[in-house]
Amino acid sequence: GLKDTEIKTDVVTNNRNLLKNGSSNVSYKEDIKATRQSLPCFRSRTDLLTMIRENQVSIIVGETGSGKTTQLPQYLYEDGFTANGKMVGVTQPRRVAAMSVAKRVAQEMNVKIKEEVGYSIRFEDYSSPKTRIKFMTDGILLREVLLDNDLDKYSCIIIDEAHERTLNTDVMLGILRVLLQRRKDLKLIITSATMNAAKFSKFFGNAPQFTIPGRTFPVEINYSKYPVSDYVEEAVKKAVNIHLTTSIESGDILIFMTGQEDVEATTESIQEKLLEVYRKKGEASTFDEINNIEIFPIYSSLAPELQSRIFHKLDKSKRKIVVATNIAETSLTIDGIRFVIDCGYSKLKVYNPRIGLDSLAITPISLANANQRSGRAGRTSSGVAYRLYTEETSETDMYGSTIPEIQRTNLSNTVLLLKSLGVENVMKFPFIDTPPMQTLLNSLYELWSIGALDNFGNLTKLGIDMTKLPLQPSLSKILLNSIKLGCSSEILIIVAMLSIPQIFKRPKEREKESDKARSRFFVAQSDHLTLLNVYLQWKSNHFSSQWCAKHFIQGKSLEKAEDIRKQLLRVMEKQKFSLTSAGSNWNIIRECICTGFSHQAAKLSGLKRYVHLRTGMHTQLHPTSALFGMGDLPSYIIYNELLMTSTEYLVCVTAVDPFWLMESGLLLYDIKKKDEINDYSIGLLGTNSKLNNNEVEMEDARKVVRE
Ligand code: ADP
Ligand code: MG
Repeated sequence: GLKDTEIKTDVVTNNRNLLKNGSSNVSYKEDIKATRQSLPCFRSRTDLLTMIRENQVSIIVGETGSGKTTQLPQYLYEDGFTANGKMVGVTQPRRVAAMSVAKRVAQEMNVKIKEEVGYSIRFEDYSSPKTRIKFMTDGILLREVLLDNDLDKYSCIIIDEAHERTLNTDVMLGILRVLLQRRKDLKLIITSATMNAAKFSKFFGNAPQFTIPGRTFPVEINYSKYPVSDYVEEAVKKAVNIHLTTSIESGDILIFMTGQEDVEATTESIQEKLLEVYRKKGEASTFDEINNIEIFPIYSSLAPELQSRIFHKLDKSKRKIVVATNIAETSLTIDGIRFVIDCGYSKLKVYNPRIGLDSLAITPISLANANQRSGRAGRTSSGVAYRLYTEETSETDMYGSTIPEIQRTNLSNTVLLLKSLGVENVMKFPFIDTPPMQTLLNSLYELWSIGALDNFGNLTKLGIDMTKLPLQPSLSKILLNSIKLGCSSEILIIVAMLSIPQIFKRPKEREKESDKARSRFFVAQSDHLTLLNVYLQWKSNHFSSQWCAKHFIQGKSLEKAEDIRKQLLRVMEKQKFSLTSAGSNWNIIRECICTGFSHQAAKLSGLKRYVHLRTGMHTQLHPTSALFGMGDLPSYIIYNELLMTSTEYLVCVTAVDPFWLMESGLLLYDIKKKDEINDYSIGLLGTNSKLNNNEVEMEDARKVVRE
C-alpha cells in the first residue's frame, strides 16, 4: 500500500539545511529518501511492521548494511509506535556504534540530536523529554531497568547486534523475558547478523524470525600460505600491493586489526610505504600530495568527528583505505569496499583477576567472525578477502563461533545487579546460555563474604550502595567504607592505581638501577600505600612526565590512572559521597583496605612464605613487593592478586592487624587468644556454625567454594 513507498517526511520539525554545498532542502530530502528506499530493509517494510504488530517478540535477521539499525526505529516511529509519548529504545554493544547510528538517524530525520533522536552512553546523555528514538549501550538499559523495573518509558525495545552476545545483552534478554509477562504492551525486537538467530527464537517461545532478503556477491577467499609473524607488516604489504596493482575504480580496501595501537601502526606504515613509492616516481614529496588515496583509521576511542569521516564519499579518482577494529565487522557499514584484509585476531573481553574487572586480550577470531569480515567485501559487487593466517590455522585454532561473554567472565557484578533487580535465586535466572555453575557460586560466595549479601542471599545496604559504583565488589566496598573511615581521597587513588597493569619500568640493562629507584617509594607495611606514595609524589611534581622517566615510572600508566580516578570522582560526586583525607594517619587506610579483602588473607609461615587463611594454600611474597626486603615480616597480610606460575605469588600485599581481619571477616574467621600478651591465631569457622536451615543457597555456595 501507500505506506510502503511513502516515507513520511512531515515528521521533520527542524528545517535546517544539513548540506553545506548549497543544494536545496528539497533535493536533500529527496536524496535521503532515495537512499533509504534503496536499502534491502525497505522492501520488507510492510511485512516487518505486520510481524511486529502481531507478535510481542520478533527476531529480525539481515546482512550487515541492510538497514536494521538505522531504518527499523524510523519505521516504528513513522508507524505510530511512539505516538503515545513513549520511546523506541535501541541497544548497541558498543558506545561508538550507539553514538554514530544516532547521529545518522537524526540526520536522516532532519532533526537535531537530543531532540527526537538521542543517545545515551556512560558519562554522556544526549536524550531529552522530546526524544522518541533513543540509542544506548546495553549497559545503560540495564542501569535504567534498576531505576524503573517496568521500563515504562518504552513502547518498544530493540536489542540490536544480539549475535555479539555481550554479557549485558544476555542479562538484558533474561530480564526482558520476565518483564514481557508483566508488560503485555511492550514490544521486543531482536536483531542479529546472520548468526545464532534460531537460539533467540527458541529462548522467547519460538518467536517468529524474519530474514531480510539481501543481495550478497561472491567473495574470493585467499589464505596466507605460511604463518604470518607480524600481521601489521603483512597487512601493510597487501594493502600497498592492492593499491599499486589494481585500478582505483576496482574499489576500496578495509583492513581488520585488533585495537587502536595496531590500527595506528598500520595506518602510518601504509603512508610511509606509499610515500616511498611515489617519491621515487617523483610524484609526491609528502603523503598529502598523493592525490589518489585517503586512509581512515577507526576504533572506539577515536574522536567522533574523525569517526564520521569514514562515511564521506570520496571523488572517483580516489581510493579509500579503512583500517578498523572489529567495530566494522557488523556495527558499522562502509559502502564501496571490494578488498578485505583480515589479521585474524580481535580484542576480546576476558576476566582480569588483577582488579576483578574485565580486560581486553588479543585472541584469535572465530570462523563466524572471519566470514563476517570477508563478507564486507561482497556488499555491492564481488570482492576479494585476504586472510593473514593459513587455512590450517583456521581449522585448528578457531572456534566455530565466539564463546559468549557470560561463559568466560567473572559474574560478581552481574549477580549483584540481578540481586538488586529482585532476582532471588540467580541459579534459576533464565540465561540464554547458562554460565558455569561454579562461576555463579563463586560470585555468590564472594559477595556474601564481603557483606554485600546476607545469609539468605539478600542484598544488604552495603550491597545496594555497591551497585552504584562501576567497580569490582571488593573495591566498591573499600571505597564505600573509606567514606565512613575518613580516607576516601586516598582510597580513590589506590583503586585507580590498582586498575593499571604496570607502574614501574624495569629495562633489561638497568635492572639494578631501576630496582633501587623503585625501592625509594616503598612504604614498609604496604604495596597499596606504596602506590599511593607514587601518586602523591607525582602529583607534587606537577604530574610531570620527565619526573616519571627519571624515576623509572610509566608516565602513560599514571595518566591512565588519573583518568580513571577522575571518572570515579564524578560518580562519587553524583552519589553525594564525600571526599575526605586521612592526612598522615595511614594506618586507617590499611584498615580500610582490610575491610574489602578479608577473604584474601594469609598468615606468615616461614621465610617470605605465607599460607592462605581460607584455602591453606602455600604462597610466597612476590619479589617486587615492598615487604620483600623487610627483616621482620608481618604475621597477617591481605593481597590484591594471586599470581599463578610455577609458584603461587602474592602480588600487592598490605600488612593487617588480626583484629581487623576478625572484624571484617566475621563470617569467615574465628580468633583464639593463645596467651595473655598478644599471641593470637586465626582459624576458619566451622562450615555450619553461623547458619540455619533456611540458608540453603548461601550454604551451597560456601560448600562448593570450600571443596
Ligand atoms: P545494519 O544495521 O543492517 O547493518 P545499518 O542500518 O547500520 O545496517 O546501515 C544501513 C546503511 O546506512 C548502510 O548503507 C550504511 O552505510 C549507512 N550508514 C550507516 N551509518 C551511516 C553514517 N553515519 N553515515 C553514512 N551512512 C551511514
Ligand atoms: Mg546494525
